[in-house]
Amino acid sequence: MTLTVLLLTILASVVVLGAGAALVIGRGRRELPPPADLDRVTEEVIEHPEHPEPHLGDEDGPAEPPIPEAAVDTIDRPESPQGRLVRLRARLARSQGSLGKGLLAVLSRSTLDDAAWEEIEDTLLAADVGVTATDQLVANLRTRMRVEGIDDPARAKSALREELIGLIGPSLDRSLVSTGTDGKPGVVLVVGVNGTGKTTSVGRLARVLVAENKTVVLGAADTFRAAAADQLQTWGERVGVPTVRGPEGGDPASVGFEAVQRGIADGTDVVLVDTAGRLHTKAGLMDELGKVKRVIEKQAPVTEVLLVIDATTGQNGLTQARVFGEVVDVTGIVLTKLDGTAKGGIVIAVQRELGVPVKFVGLGEGADDLAPFDANEFVDALLG
Ligand code: GDP
Repeated sequence: MTLTVLLLTILASVVVLGAGAALVIGRGRRELPPPADLDRVTEEVIEHPEHPEPHLGDEDGPAEPPIPEAAVDTIDRPESPQGRLVRLRARLARSQGSLGKGLLAVLSRSTLDDAAWEEIEDTLLAADVGVTATDQLVANLRTRMRVEGIDDPARAKSALREELIGLIGPSLDRSLVSTGTDGKPGVVLVVGVNGTGKTTSVGRLARVLVAENKTVVLGAADTFRAAAADQLQTWGERVGVPTVRGPEGGDPASVGFEAVQRGIADGTDVVLVDTAGRLHTKAGLMDELGKVKRVIEKQAPVTEVLLVIDATTGQNGLTQARVFGEVVDVTGIVLTKLDGTAKGGIVIAVQRELGVPVKFVGLGEGADDLAPFDANEFVDALLG
C-alpha cells in the first residue's frame, strides 16, 4: 500500500515536471525574434491608419500588431543600382543610332574635309549637345586628329570617346548626398515640372536606397494632386517604406516638415520629399519651393536638391532647368526618358546649363529602370 502511494507520487511528479518543461520550451519558441527583414514591414503596418501610432522606445509596451502574410509577400527586393546602366545600355538605341553611329560613320571616312566636319557638327547639334560644347568637341577632335596623325577608324573612335567623356566630366561627384549630420536623416528634395517623371523618380530613388539597405521615409508634398500622393504611397508600399501625406490642397511645406519629423523620430536614414511642379509664375514657384525648403530646414538640413528633367523635351527642358536653377540651389539632375529620344547629348547641355552633374538617368518605365549615371559607361553605350 505504502509502495503503491510512493509509486503514484513519483509518477505524478514526472507528469507535472514534463508539462512544465514543455510549457517553458513552447513559450521560448513563441518568443523567438522575428526575422530581421520584417522590421521594415512592421513600420509599414504601423503607418497604416487603422493601426495605432507607434510607441517610440516603449520596450515594455503592448506587443506589436501581427504582420499580415500578404504584406510580407508583396515587399519587393529592388535590384542593386550597380551595373544598371550596363543592363539598360540597349535602351539608348535611338541616341546610339543617330549620335554614336552617326559620328563614327563620318570619322571612318578616308579623308575628313570641311564638309565632313560640318556633318559632325550637325550630328552633335541635332542630338542637343549644344553650340558651345559642339564647337569645343569639334575643335579638340580636329586638332588631335591632325597633331596625332590619326587616320584609322579605331583610333578616331577612341579619340572621340575620350573627348565625349571629357565633355561630360568623368571626375564629377555624382553620388547622391543622402547622409545627414548630427544623427539626423539626409533630406533629398525632388523638384521639377509635372509630367517629367518626378514622382516616378522619387519612388525609384526609394528603391535604390532600400537596395543599399537604407531606411527611407517618403514625403508627398505635391498636395495639389491627390493622385501624386497615392502614386507615391504605392511606390513606398512596394518596398515597405512609409509615406507621410497631408490633406489634398494642404500646405506642401507642412507635409515636408512632418515627413522629416517622422524621419528623425524613427531614426530613418533618408527622407525623400516629392514637391509640386505646376508650371506657373516664377515668383509663385520661388515662394513655394523656397518655403518648403525653409520649413524643412527647421528640422534638418536639406542635403540634396534633385531637379528632374524629361530628356525628350529638348530646349524646353533646358529652359525649365534655368528657371529652377534660379529658384532653388539644385545640386543634381535626374534625366528621365532617355530611352525615348535620339537626343542623348542633352546630358552635356543640361550639365552646362546648371553647372551641376547628372546623377541618375531614367531608361524605361520599369521600377528599377533608373540608373546611377556614369560618363564612361554612357559614352561606351552611345558608341556601341
Ligand atoms: P510627374 O508628374 O513629374 O510626377 O510624372 P510621373 O512620375 O507621373 O511620370 C509621368 C510618366 O512618365 C509616367 O507614365 C512614367 O511612367 C513616365 N516615365 C518616368 N520616367 C521615365 C523614363 O525614364 N522612361 C520612360 N519611358 N518613361 C518614364
